[in-house]
Amino acid sequence: MELWFSEYQSKNVRFSVRIKDMLYSKKTPYQFLCVFDTEDMGRIMTLDDVVQLTTKDEFVYHEMISHVPLFTHRSPERVLVIGGGDGGTVREILKHPVKEVHLVEIDEQVIEASKKFFPSLSSGFSDPRTSVFCEDGIEFVKKNKGYDVIIIDSTDPLGPAVGLFSREFYRDVFYALNDDGIMVAQTESPFFYGEFLKRVYSDISSVFKFTNVYTAVIPTYPGALWTFTMGSKSIDPISVNSMKLPEFDTKYYSPDIHKNCFVLPPFVQKMISK
Ligand code: SAM
Repeated sequence: MELWFSEYQSKNVRFSVRIKDMLYSKKTPYQFLCVFDTEDMGRIMTLDDVVQLTTKDEFVYHEMISHVPLFTHRSPERVLVIGGGDGGTVREILKHPVKEVHLVEIDEQVIEASKKFFPSLSSGFSDPRTSVFCEDGIEFVKKNKGYDVIIIDSTDPLGPAVGLFSREFYRDVFYALNDDGIMVAQTESPFFYGEFLKRVYSDISSVFKFTNVYTAVIPTYPGALWTFTMGSKSIDPISVNSMKLPEFDTKYYSPDIHKNCFVLPPFVQKMISK
């Protein structure tokens, strides 16, 4: 008998993948966590039946949410990740000569599952530069300050993640950043959640001097074209044009991708234009 996983990417669109082996499922205090193997997409983690990552395409998301803000800043020393319990974003940040990475993840079980089932993502948790805090990121940014870059690597705006997409939260992120600080958030699919992107863009622009949306292609996320929204206190990301080649291997990110990812298709540009 065949076993399939299906995610509702919108009310009437589903993404399905055949499960080769079911490895783990657990109801945590926050969400329903599953890990399974597939033939074509590798190993997959889902939370509440929403794909968080596949080992086939996770590199796109994790490279783009990390290297674009870190290379825009140029000399980040202290970086905070909110969410991101799978460890993929921390893994990419540690490729930079940063001094400290803080990760605040509300659900400890996500971190434990990643350590067990995704060693290629979670290796950065044992790096001496990494500190992990298992608490709510919304409260954490009110108390902890002095970051050069803050990356909001959250689930969709449901349950505990709702407050990570609010104007009040972006204001707290602003105050938690140093004077040349930069934040970036994953901001969903322009095909299915255009109104949401428009609202988040407007909220981040009301707080930061520079707000820019950039995109990447992530096959297993709804609509495949994914958006990230960057807020910057003083550095204009578009004027940062003499990008250095990374001194480490990347599979999706490059200086040319960096420059071009801010060029938006007209339908996305129109969505965020007033
Ligand atoms: N790449 C993924 C995506 O966009 O589908 C996100 C990956 S990561 C697993 C998202 C994490 O955000 C989850 O582990 C979840 O527990 C965490 N999270 C949700 N709300 C949070 C909050 N308020 N504070 C800290 N972490 C939160």
